[in-house]
Amino acid sequence: MSQTAHDVLRRVFGYDRFRGPQQAIIEHLASGQDCLVLLPTGGGKSLCYQIPALLRPGTAIVVSPLIALMQDQVEALHQLGVAAAFLNSSLSGPEATEVEGRLLRGELDLLYVAPERLLTERFLGLLARIRIALFAIDEAHCVSQWGHDFRPEYRQLDVLHARWPEVPRIALTATADPPTRREIVERLGLADARQFVGSFDRPNIRYRVEEKHAGPQQLQAFLRGHQGESGIVYCLSRKGVEQTAESLRAAGFAALPYHAGMDAAIRAQHQRRFLREDGIVMVATIAFGMGIDKPDVRFVAHMNLPKSIEGYYQETGRAGRDGEPAEAWMAYGLGDVATLAQMIEGGESSEERKRIERRKLDALLGYCETTRCRRATLLANFGEEHPGHCGSCDNCLSPPECFDGTEAAQKALSAVYRTGQRFGAAHIVDVLRGKRSERMSEYGHDRLPTFGVGVDLDDRAWRSILRQLVAARALDVDIEGYGGLRLGPEARALLRGERRIELRRESVRARGKGGRPPRAPAITITLDIPAAERFERLRALRAELARAQNVPAYVIFHDSVLRAIAATEPATLDELGRISGVGAAKLERYGEAILAVLAHD
Ligand code: ADP
Ligand code: ZN
Repeated sequence: MSQTAHDVLRRVFGYDRFRGPQQAIIEHLASGQDCLVLLPTGGGKSLCYQIPALLRPGTAIVVSPLIALMQDQVEALHQLGVAAAFLNSSLSGPEATEVEGRLLRGELDLLYVAPERLLTERFLGLLARIRIALFAIDEAHCVSQWGHDFRPEYRQLDVLHARWPEVPRIALTATADPPTRREIVERLGLADARQFVGSFDRPNIRYRVEEKHAGPQQLQAFLRGHQGESGIVYCLSRKGVEQTAESLRAAGFAALPYHAGMDAAIRAQHQRRFLREDGIVMVATIAFGMGIDKPDVRFVAHMNLPKSIEGYYQETGRAGRDGEPAEAWMAYGLGDVATLAQMIEGGESSEERKRIERRKLDALLGYCETTRCRRATLLANFGEEHPGHCGSCDNCLSPPECFDGTEAAQKALSAVYRTGQRFGAAHIVDVLRGKRSERMSEYGHDRLPTFGVGVDLDDRAWRSILRQLVAARALDVDIEGYGGLRLGPEARALLRGERRIELRRESVRARGKGGRPPRAPAITITLDIPAAERFERLRALRAELARAQNVPAYVIFHDSVLRAIAATEPATLDELGRISGVGAAKLERYGEAILAVLAHD
C-alpha cells in the first residue's frame, strides 16, 4: 500500500493536521504538476515540498539563497530521520564530494543547493545522472529586481524547466504583492502553474504602535514584558543599532548588535548566539532577518518607521513562527517621517520610483495613525479582507476615543501657515500652547493670532494631532529632512471648513504618569506550577541534547511541544508519540530520556 501525504505528516513530522492549503499543494506537487505558493512567514511552506520529496521517487532539489537557512533546514530534517544534505560554499572539497557521492548513489531524499552552484555546468551534469523527484525554489521573490533580496542567479533558474520539463516545480515565497508575483511567474516560466495563496493573517501576532517620546525607556518598558524571551529590535541606522544595544546591555538585557558595517566574524557569531541561545535580544538593521527561521522569536520591535508596509509585515512576521503568541511593537514619531522623506528625496532613484516610495510611506503612516483594527488595515494592504475587531491589536484591545477634530486641525494648520511653513512640530506646539521664549519673540510668533489658541490641550495631544494631520495629508513633512511642516494637499478644504475630520484623542492611559507608556501585558502561556517545573526540566534536557549535537535547541523540539508534554505528562512512549510534534525518529531518539525526566518527580 502506498503511503499517503497524511501518513508522512503523522509518522515523520508527528503532526496531526495540515495547515491551510498544505494538503492541496502537496497532492498537486506529488502528482507531478507545477505550482506557485504564497504563504506568510510561518505558514508552513517547507512541508509543501518536503512531503512530496518523500512521496516521489528520486531526490528533491531545493534551491535556497541562504547558507544559514539551508543548514538549519537540513539539521531539522536529520532530527526527523530524513536523508537530506546541502551543497554550498561552507563545505570543504572532500565534504562536497561526499555529498555528491550520496546524491549519485540515490541516497538522498532532499538536496539543498545554492543557486550559483546549481547553475554550474558541472552540477547540472550531476543532475543529468540522477532521478529528480522535484525542484523547489524557495524565497522565489529573489528573482524580483525591485525587491531588496534580489539575486541575479535566480533569473536563470528557468534552465531547470528547459532541461527537465517533466520534473514538477514548486516556487515559494512570503512576499505577496502582485507585481512580485507576476515577476516570479514570468521569470521562472510558471504561467501554467497553479497558484496557491493562503491567508496572510498571522493570528498569533499582536500589533501595537505608540508615539515615540522617550525611545530607550519605552523600549525597555516593552521588553520588561518579555523577560527571558528571544526577539528582534529593528533600528534604521547602524548608529541607532549600536546605541540601542549598548543602552539595553547597560539596563541588564542580553542584547547583541547586528548590522552590515560590523566585522563579518562578529556578526556571524551574534547571529549564531541568537539562534542557539535562549532569550537573546538582537538589535539590528534590516540587514538581519532573511533566512532566520528561528521559530520561537517572541517579539519584533521597531524603534523607527520601516520603509513600507510590506517591509514591516516581513519584519514583524519573523515573530511567532511556531504559532505561539508573539508581539509586534513599534514606537514612531514625526522625526522618523522626516528622515525617511529625506532618504527618498535625496536618493538616486528615478522620479517614478520616488513616487512609489512616497506612496508606500503614506500607506505606512496611515497604518500607524489608524483608529481601526490594525490587522484589518495591514491585510487590506495585501488585498485581503478582514472583518476587523481582531481582539489582538492595540486599537481593538483599547479602542481609541475619537472626537471631531476639525477645529483643532484648523488651529494647527493655521499655526503652520502663519509661521511660514518651515518649523517643526515642537515649535508649532509651542505656538499653539502659547509658550513664551526668546526665540518666540525673536520670530514675532508671540504676536500671531494663533499664539496660545491651543492651551486647552497639552503638548502630547498636539503632537498627536500633528501626526494625524500628516497621515491625512493635511500636512507634509519637508523634504530637506529637518522636520519642518508645511500644508499638504488636504489642508485647504479643512481650513475652509469644507471638510470635517475625526481625530483620535491621546488616551489618558497612554499619557500616564510622567509620560510613561503602559507596561506591556506579558503574554504568558499558562501551565500550573508542577507543569511549569516539568517544562523547565524538559528545557534543560533539550539544552543538553542540543549542546551534545551542536544544533539549535528548537530543531530538537519547539517550546510548544515541550509545553504539551509537560501539561499532559505521558507515561509511555506510545502516549508521548501521540503529542503533536513528536514524530517516529524523535520518539526513538529522545523518548526514553523524556519519560525519565517526567518520572523524576
Ligand atoms: P515558512 O517557511 O512558511 O515560514 P515553516 O515551513 O518554517 O514556515 O513552518 C513554520 C513552523 O510550523 C515550523 O516549525 C513547522 O514545523 C511548523 N508546521 C508546519 N506545518 C505544520 C502543521 N501542519 N502542523 C503543525 N506545525 C506545522
Ligand atoms: Zn484589531
